[in-house]
Amino acid sequence: MTDNQNEFIKERLAPCGLHCGKCFAFAGGRIHELSRELQAALGNFGAYAERFVTLLNDPVYASYPEFTKFLDHLAEGGCGGCRREECRLFASCGVRPCARERNVDFCFQCAEFPCDRTGFDENLRRRHVAINERMREIGVERYYEAIRDLPRY
Ligand code: SF4
Ligand code: SF4
Repeated sequence: MTDNQNEFIKERLAPCGLHCGKCFAFAGGRIHELSRELQAALGNFGAYAERFVTLLNDPVYASYPEFTKFLDHLAEGGCGGCRREECRLFASCGVRPCARERNVDFCFQCAEFPCDRTGFDENLRRRHVAINERMREIGVERYYEAIRDLPRY
C-alpha cells in the first residue's frame, strides 16, 4: 500500500475501525454528495410541492418543507473525520485520544486490545472488537476494500 492509499484509508477509517467515510456528517462522503446533488436537482420544487397538495390531491407534498430541512442538514456534511476533528456522534469516545497516546493507527495494533477504555456501549463494543479482529486477520487495505461501499447504518 502506498503512503497516499494509506492516508486515504486512514481519513475514512477511524482508529476504532468505524467507517467515517460513510457517516452522514463526513465532508465529501456519499451521503453528503448525494444530498447536495438532490438539493440541486430539486431546484425550486418547493413552490410546486405546495401546489401539488391540491393539484394532485396528495397531502404527502405538504411534508416537503420538513423534508428539505433534513436534506439541508445532510448536505452540510462538514466533518473531516475522526483523525481530524472531535466526533459529533460519540462524545464519550475514549479511542481517539488513547490511540494517539499509544501511537497506533488502529486498535488491533495495540497490545491492550480488546480493552475497556473505549467508552462504547455493549453494542458498539462488539462491533469494535469484530471490526478490529477482521482488520488484523486480512489487513487494513483488504478490510477497507470489503466495506467501502457498504452503508454504515
Ligand atoms: S468523526 Fe464522527 S461525526 Fe465525523 S465523520 Fe467520523 S463518525 Fe462522523
Ligand atoms: S487501549 Fe483500547 S482504546 Fe486505546 S488504543 Fe488500545 S485498544 Fe484502542
